Amino acid sequence: RWHPRDALFAPLIGSDGGLLGVLSVDDPEDGMLPSRERTAMLEAFAVQASIAVEHARAHQSLAESEALLHQMFEEAPVAKCLLDPDGVIVRVNRSFCEFFGRGPDELIGLPAIELADPDDREVARSLKGQAYGGKIVRGVERRYIRADGETRYGRLSLIPIEHASGRAVLFAVVDTTHEREAQAQLQHLALHDALTSLPNRNLIADRLEQALSRSAREGGRVGVLVIDLDHFKLVNDSYGHPVGDQLLVSVAESLTGVLRGADTAGRLGGDEFIVVCEGVEDLQELELIADRLRAAIRVPVTLGDVTLCPSASVGATLSFDGASADELVAQADMALYRAKGQGRGRFEVFDEDMRSGSMQQLEVRAELDQALRRDEFRLHYQPILDVATSRPIGYEALLRWEHPQRGLLYPGDFLDVLTDSELETPVTRWVLRRACADLRSFGDGERLFVSVNLSPRQLTRDGLSADVQAALADASVDPDQLWLEITEHDILDVRHRSSLQSLQDLGCRIALDDFGTGYSGLTYLQQLPADVVKIDRGFVARLATDRVSAGIVAAVTDLAELLELTVVAEGVETEEQLEMLRAMGVGYVQGFLFARPQPAPAAAAAIAGYGP
Ligand code: C2E
Ligand code: CA
Ligand code: CA
Repeated sequence: RWHPRDALFAPLIGSDGGLLGVLSVDDPEDGMLPSRERTAMLEAFAVQASIAVEHARAHQSLAESEALLHQMFEEAPVAKCLLDPDGVIVRVNRSFCEFFGRGPDELIGLPAIELADPDDREVARSLKGQAYGGKIVRGVERRYIRADGETRYGRLSLIPIEHASGRAVLFAVVDTTHEREAQAQLQHLALHDALTSLPNRNLIADRLEQALSRSAREGGRVGVLVIDLDHFKLVNDSYGHPVGDQLLVSVAESLTGVLRGADTAGRLGGDEFIVVCEGVEDLQELELIADRLRAAIRVPVTLGDVTLCPSASVGATLSFDGASADELVAQADMALYRAKGQGRGRFEVFDEDMRSGSMQQLEVRAELDQALRRDEFRLHYQPILDVATSRPIGYEALLRWEHPQRGLLYPGDFLDVLTDSELETPVTRWVLRRACADLRSFGDGERLFVSVNLSPRQLTRDGLSADVQAALADASVDPDQLWLEITEHDILDVRHRSSLQSLQDLGCRIALDDFGTGYSGLTYLQQLPADVVKIDRGFVARLATDRVSAGIVAAVTDLAELLELTVVAEGVETEEQLEMLRAMGVGYVQGFLFARPQPAPAAAAAIAGYGP
């Protein structure tokens, strides 16, 4: 109960002069006015109460902000720890424990320096020195080793904290491992081919430069080999790009599988690969390397339900004093171009003649257009002989281009350009007519044949059958007097097979050219509509020196006999080769030993003089 006369009120005033509250006291003796002493005592008490209230409030907000700070430290996404004046960890947060993969009990008490990667300790020590010297260290990226041995990257800050007991340091790390990985991945992507993961053109150029400067310092030469898959486009066209891609991946693996320590393989793009070899002695060694690479590629690969046996052409060059990377790659490229012009699956080393050849190549496309109109194409004929009688049984027609300025050009100089252009069809038509017409001038009374080469695109072209029939009819040549040669490489799918079949149905003879270098292999021989197998001249060339080649020739001959196919060995250059072929039972031969390809009259005359 309050009595208006004996109630006392005193304001509680804060240190800033604001009102904290009111102290009120009711004297127990009702109706008594408080004495002066009493009022003074109450006023003194009010002052003390104000101080107490203010204190209590301050304490509460301190506790609250301390809890907040603790939470902010503990739950921060940034790894943080506090180091005592000696650099020993005294407090860690959750992120810190996660970053290092250790619990608080393992970390507290540990000198922070022990968390740095051993290779990084010197730098870490100097940074620590700066922080303890009062300087803020920020944004330095360092490597750390977790308890599980995993390497982490973190951007570190060291913040000196002044303390009554000395200088402490707040140590914070932002995990940059993912950033690093992304960067590394970007860098990898920029320098590697996405499909095969091999170094790309840029990285290879770099490695080649390095190899060249090493060879300038330490001696030894650098070999550059450019490798191109034969008929890769055909694989893509026939089986689709996924199969083509898989083939490239598998070839990349085959290549890297046979590299020596100091070699680098890369992908230049498309189906072109490159290998850089250091410490190559001479051309012989370069050739050995090329052989090894080609052998590695020539293993059958099964992709889904197709089995392919890829082969490759290789062009190579050796470094010389002052050679630049670009120059060497260009040289190897020119050699590759020549290798492909010689038929597929071959190897060529750069020589200076190729330079002028390839300069001219650029002009070919422009001039080819007029070649047919100006009647500049020629056919040269090379006889195919019966081993038993040494007499020709027929002639292979080989295309030449009588260039008004450059003289006689060979297929290697223009065929690639031609078969890529719309001129190919009229030229094929011309070849068929010319060959059939020329056949009439060969052999008096003997029934000879003429053999014409066809590209895979021509083989599947709609009008081909009609062109063949027209050429035969115009020259009054029987269908069985026309052989059609198609490179074994080029027969890949049912489309090609059915085209062969329909030509065979016309009565023409189908010859599988360059046999042994292609995708099909021996087992396919019986599935193909073919009459003749022409054993690739590469095997013939190696007959005397390489037992595998000799074995392949013998096996093909045996199988062909079983399947009642005619066997022709191409590229016979020596008597020794001829004798070996004869011993193996090869029935027919063709090559420089007997005659080079020549114009029709000369070809006929040359053979009249050859014989036992
Ligand atoms: P191929 O069908 O394998 O023709 C045989 C090639 O080997 C010819 O080269 C011939 O000159 C060469 N040769 C013949 N005997 C020997 C020998 O004993 N030793 C060596 N080292 N080589 C020999 P050529 O005339 O330069 O023809 C190259 C290729 O061009 C031919 O290879 C053929 O695939 C292609 N070709 C030629 N004419 C035509 C054509 O009219 N149409 C198409 N599509 N391709 C053609
Ligand atoms: Ca041929
Ligand atoms: Ca051939």
